[in-house]
Amino acid sequence: MKLSFLGGAHEVGRSAILLEDKRSLLFDYGVKIDDVIEYPISTPKADAFILSHAHLDHSGSSPSLYNEMSLPTIGTSPTLGLSELLLNDTIKISRKEHTKINFHKRQLEKFSKRFMQVGYKKPVHLGEFDIELYDAGHIAGSAITLVERVKAKNNKRIVYTGDFKMSPQFLHEGAKPVRSDVLIIESTYATREHPDRNKLVHDFIEGVREVTDNGGIALVPAFAVGRSQELLALLYEHGLIERTYIDGMAREATEIVLSNRGFIRNADALAKAANECNWVKDIADRREALQGGSIVVTTAGMLNGGPVMHYITRLNKESKVFLTGYQVEGTKGRRLMDTGKIYVDEVDKEFHLQVGFYDFSAHSGMSDLYKFVRESAPNTVVCVHGSPENTEAFADGLKGEGFEAYAPKVGDTIDLGE
Ligand SMILES: [Zn+2]
Ligand SMILES: [Zn+2]
Repeated sequence: MKLSFLGGAHEVGRSAILLEDKRSLLFDYGVKIDDVIEYPISTPKADAFILSHAHLDHSGSSPSLYNEMSLPTIGTSPTLGLSELLLNDTIKISRKEHTKINFHKRQLEKFSKRFMQVGYKKPVHLGEFDIELYDAGHIAGSAITLVERVKAKNNKRIVYTGDFKMSPQFLHEGAKPVRSDVLIIESTYATREHPDRNKLVHDFIEGVREVTDNGGIALVPAFAVGRSQELLALLYEHGLIERTYIDGMAREATEIVLSNRGFIRNADALAKAANECNWVKDIADRREALQGGSIVVTTAGMLNGGPVMHYITRLNKESKVFLTGYQVEGTKGRRLMDTGKIYVDEVDKEFHLQVGFYDFSAHSGMSDLYKFVRESAPNTVVCVHGSPENTEAFADGLKGEGFEAYAPKVGDTIDLGE
């Protein structure tokens, strides 16, 4: 048995890991979006494809697998709905911006057709493999995958975490460790802790309340899938939903999540939030949202495009931008976070803004990553989905605790023996 890393190793983005035995399984097939789009380094011959969750760094290349093959895909029903939404949007953007992507509508349709919707803890048999998904606590439908060869003489439990969060979010229970022999684990925050969630929520809500009470606009850039739903439900819980406007793709994403209520907790709060908030449908709604005293939740989370740019240029001076997620180096969001300034090409002008950063990460922090490994109790740990520094530091830390640990690079293989 061996593992090959076609992407997402020593980096965040284009996750793609191949497990080869008599048959082979592919875990995730994503894209990395920097200045240019990067894809996994090769298209493997796989017998089945397991998709951990809908985010494009895991799903973004999956339709391209259906150029030549027609392999079955395993994932949860929210993962299907949310990745269809994001992949259709990818097609739309590429048409608008005349950029090339590695699939067409036809491949996306094949992907949807071959998708087997599987619930958590409902084992599936595929050739010699038994596959079981567990709640990863990251976004709706996100899964930790267990693969076993139950009938083989020397069965091995291979676990792929995908992106996961052990401590609970408002809409998600925390992920529980899954026993393994070989553990492939994400390392995004392997060297950093997150702030206390209750204090974070309190600070965010109070900050938003203060700005809106003073007639300002609380502008909250957020990813459409995951973060927007979490924030919507929190704004409802704290009595702020009536002054909340939602713009961009979050609407469709929220509908998909709400049609899969079994995959989240506090679903009633999200449903009420969706009913009571103001959905921005046209330019008149945008004008209304900008009157002051309002909260605007909108894409893109890192300010690289989307309706957020419309609002940024029209804020009054009491307003403030609430960044709610990690801002990648080189994005407009990162520059705003570091300098309080943002340059808007459309109007050829620089804006100075009040800005706050709130770490609503849906990934496990450092001590939870270690805790997961200890309780999963593998012999071999493979650290992926992190910067070179983080994956190396994580593997070194685990070696210090007696684990056989690796931080592979893209293109590497690891032999797992018989
Ligand atoms: Zn993710
Ligand atoms: Zn990811």
